[in-house]
Order: sequence, then C-alpha cells, then structure tokens
Amino acid sequence: MADKTDKWPENAPGKFYVDQQCIDCDLCRETAPDFFTRNEDGGFSFVYRQPATEEDAELCREALEGCPVDAIGEDGDEVGATAPASGQAGQEG
Ligand code: SF4
Repeated sequence: MADKTDKWPENAPGKFYVDQQCIDCDLCRETAPDFFTRNEDGGFSFVYRQPATEEDAELCREALEGCPVDAIGEDGDEVGATAPASGQAGQEG
C-alpha cells in the first residue's frame, strides 16, 4: 500500500499520488498519461494533474491497481476539502 507520508514532492496536491517505492515501470503513464508523468532526472513517476471527473478518477484507479509495487495511493489530501483536526471530539460548549 502506498504511503502518503512518503510521496514525491512533485505530486500535484490532491487525492492521487506516487510514493517513493516507484520502480519506474511505466505502467501508470501508459494507463493514464493525462495524470501520470515521469521525472526524467529521478527516474520515477508522479501525478502531475489530479483527475477532475469520475471517469478520470477511474483511469487513475486503474493505474493504482496495476502498479506492481503499490506505489500509487488515492488517500492524499483532497483539494478544497477541510480535513477535521485530529483529536477534536466535536463537543458543544
Ligand atoms: S505503475 Fe507504479 S512502479 Fe510503475 S511507474 Fe507507475 S507508480 Fe511507478
């Protein structure tokens, strides 16, 4: 499973990302070239654009499922969404 604390800083902010386990096999770039690209110097893939539609997200998920080393994750930060602060109990008062 991909680790979002270990993702490449090159990833576009958002849900999908590639972490540092990537072995540069090219599969995600073949599957979803509109979202995954290669860092030529580093020899790895990263998400350069986040999917905007459900159809696009499906393509990214296909790449995620095909990745041989599980380097792709989709639990990255949502753009525009406000994540609840950890430890907040939501109590009134
Ligand atoms: S499919 Fe996985 S290992 Fe292959 S290039 Fe993409 S992220 Fe890297």
